[in-house]
Amino acid sequence: MAFDPARSITVPIVMGVATVALSIALLVGWILVIVRNVELTQRVWANSWLMGGGVVSFAAIMAVLVLFSVFLTREIRQTQRQVRFIDSVTHELKSPLASLRLCVETLARRDLDRERQREMLRMMLDDIDRLGAFIDDILEASRIRHGRSDLAVSRVVLQELTDRAARHVRTRYQLEDGELTVTIEPPDLELNTEATGLEVVLRNLLDNAVKYSDRPATVRLDARITRSDRVSIEVVDNGIGIPSEHLSHVFDRFYRVPEENVAARRGTGLGLYVASALVRNLGGQLQVASAGPRTGTTMRFELPGPPAAKERTS
Ligand code: ADP
Repeated sequence: MAFDPARSITVPIVMGVATVALSIALLVGWILVIVRNVELTQRVWANSWLMGGGVVSFAAIMAVLVLFSVFLTREIRQTQRQVRFIDSVTHELKSPLASLRLCVETLARRDLDRERQREMLRMMLDDIDRLGAFIDDILEASRIRHGRSDLAVSRVVLQELTDRAARHVRTRYQLEDGELTVTIEPPDLELNTEATGLEVVLRNLLDNAVKYSDRPATVRLDARITRSDRVSIEVVDNGIGIPSEHLSHVFDRFYRVPEENVAARRGTGLGLYVASALVRNLGGQLQVASAGPRTGTTMRFELPGPPAAKERTS
């Protein structure tokens, strides 16, 4: 759920002031009733008005108290997530920097053979990629929150875009052949969309699919044209799965399923928030399905149809 501090604070303040005013009015009213008790009890209409007003005011105060409790719980959860997020950010920034430093020091000091030098450079590129992807996610999340996600629509050959995203994930996790397969049907499928946004989405989904799987992973990306002439894209893994009670939260900002096997894997809880907002911008809706722990996860969305396919059939 998106959280807007400016809007969230005005409403509770107004509600709080109104409740205090109502409580004071109620108290003064009852004091007056007690003081003028004899006089009032002789007037039936005054009694019923006082009674009715008292009950309504009491109900209103109770309702505001309940709303306040809900609001407070939401704030506390958000703060807890932000604290976890800051821990993750610190980790995500520090660990690739430490690793880069180590590689540079090793390259500078030692007489390494060519093979080892290549390995060091590959590790450094991997760290730079990780930092880059992380910073992209943060910037994209901030743009989305401030409603500044621009669309530069162009003709996209889906196979080329998915190949780039898959190559990125294969390199990052050093996947063996067959751990990640991509099937585009038809293979020359083209669509009008925003290439960068779609690539960020696919990278995030594929990255998660591998990250939350035990190795060797079995991850599939399938894209096809639906009956209603839209493009359906599905990323399926056979990894740790998502317990049903957490399914509706995984697209929230900073949300990570609070389980050990998730905490043991690096993450910030931003990837799916960014991916789902980007898919929405592209005209689709990201959906998640999982039958529970250890049953794998499926991420699916549809995008507006491929004009190239329409031209072929007409
Ligand atoms: P993170 O940086 O933690 O991976 P995401 O926003 O990408 O953040 O995902 C949010 C949470 O959803 C993850 O922390 C994880 O608990 C869960 N999740 C996402 N993708 C998968 C998946 N393919 N399999 C299992 N759990 C997943």
